[in-house]
Amino acid sequence: QGQRVGFIGLGNMGGHMARNLGRAGCSLVLHDVNADIANSIASDCADATVVHTAAEVTSQVDTVVTMLPANQHVSGVYRDEAGIFSAMQPNSLLIDASTIDPLLSKDLAAEAAKRGAVMIDAPVSGGVGGAEAGTLTFMVGGTDEAFGRASDVLKHMGKNLVHCGSNGTGQVAKICNNMLLAIGMIGTAEAMNMGKRLGMDPKVLAGIINTSTGRCWSSDTYNPCPGVMDGVPSSRNYEGGFGTALMAKNLGLPMDAAGESKDEMESFCEGEYAGRDFSSVFKMLSGEGLS
Ligand code: NAD
Repeated sequence: QGQRVGFIGLGNMGGHMARNLGRAGCSLVLHDVNADIANSIASDCADATVVHTAAEVTSQVDTVVTMLPANQHVSGVYRDEAGIFSAMQPNSLLIDASTIDPLLSKDLAAEAAKRGAVMIDAPVSGGVGGAEAGTLTFMVGGTDEAFGRASDVLKHMGKNLVHCGSNGTGQVAKICNNMLLAIGMIGTAEAMNMGKRLGMDPKVLAGIINTSTGRCWSSDTYNPCPGVMDGVPSSRNYEGGFGTALMAKNLGLPMDAAGESKDEMESFCEGEYAGRDFSSVFKMLSGEGLS
């Protein structure tokens, strides 16, 4: 019989990650506040049950992965009355893959340790595509021993497992990269808009950038200008992908460090861009708006 693993938070990322655990032969105990989502993921797995609280997950399994939107959800799922900490097996392993404040990750790990459990922060990069393909990069903060134990589970969901240091350092790595991603996306959107306005074919322009020094992930893998690439949010009216609200949230994590790009993302994730992919900043900068 495979490992028994609990999974809490089965959204755009967590759903694919849990399915990959199921495919690797794990027996799963699933929970999401949205029961329909949990039931639909369970129906894709050979051996999965759905429960109604986080405490029911931890009372059944000693290894739990959480993949939740932001600080307040993670804090609640761990600390609430029917939360993870309220009903744990001895020596449980708690893996939080959400992107949150490094200080919260440290606090939760200390609280887990007091209760005899080990916890790591293991935020990811690679996006929804990486979650689906099982090729995520996990940036792990925690002890050597916890990293070793967690690797047996993480290897089913990702291909790069990086031990960054003590608790919280996984989040530090994640938010530094994220800040650079936001800058790269906003910069790419500015450049593509300028080229288009000055009469350049966006596809030709992207081809030039992608073989020149301006090349970055936002230009060659996730181009924000419609018509340049297939299979990315800009080719489907910015549906799916990495929500503008999540990007704005991530930029708030290092507080003022991300200053300007955070303000820009925050103001644009209100109104018509709410719920769209973050590359839709292209349409805001162009002044065209969404169609
Ligand atoms: P999402 O909003 O699609 O999914 C979150 C899930 O958590 C939802 O299904 C929601 O119902 C559930 N949830 C919320 N509160 C809950 C609670 N109290 N108890 C149980 N379930 C609860 O978000 P996502 O895109 O899957 O992102 C999850 C995390 O991963 C975020 O921290 C995000 O920053 C990070 N991340 C996302 C991406 C991406 O491309 N989407 C990439 C890297 C990292």
